[in-house]
Amino acid sequence: MQGAFEEHMRALEAAGARTRLVRTREDLEELDGIVLPGGESTTMTMLMERVGLLEPVREAIQAGLATLATCAGMVVLAREITDGMPEQKGLGLLDIGVRRNGYGRQVESFESPLHIEGMDGTDFPGVFIRSPLVERTGDVKVMATYDGHPVAVRQGRIVALCFHPELTSDLRLHREFVRLAASR
Ligand code: GLN
Repeated sequence: MQGAFEEHMRALEAAGARTRLVRTREDLEELDGIVLPGGESTTMTMLMERVGLLEPVREAIQAGLATLATCAGMVVLAREITDGMPEQKGLGLLDIGVRRNGYGRQVESFESPLHIEGMDGTDFPGVFIRSPLVERTGDVKVMATYDGHPVAVRQGRIVALCFHPELTSDLRLHREFVRLAASR
């Protein structure tokens, strides 16, 4: 609906997947995976609600659609949102609590190498842009932390990241996601 979807499409195609934009509920049919990109979570949920996509997307993810959520996408998925718009609705499917823009004004954007569990090779370049801060985790697996807070989590077939792999040339996380989406 909004945000950094083109960059994700490029990265997924480079990782061997075919992609399409999801703008109606019909677009959800026969997908192996879905990406909830970075952007502006309030705008995204508002648009999703307006076109009637919020419920169908919730149902599809609940039914096991592989999901990669980055930054605003993580906010949209989170069970609790602090510092959102009043009444900010979301999907509420991921058992974490996030503070929107939680890394603060002074460091709205920064980069840091991240050690990601189970990933071979060098650290992953973490690009953070007004990222949500994960303040609570429930029944999720933490895959990476920065400054003592989770920045990558996995819950079943959902992978959620505070940072933006689609803005780097490192395809490892997209390749991993393509493998996850294909595994069913
Ligand atoms: N601050 C944005 C939000 O809460 C997320 C920023 C991003 O996706 N880069 O929606």
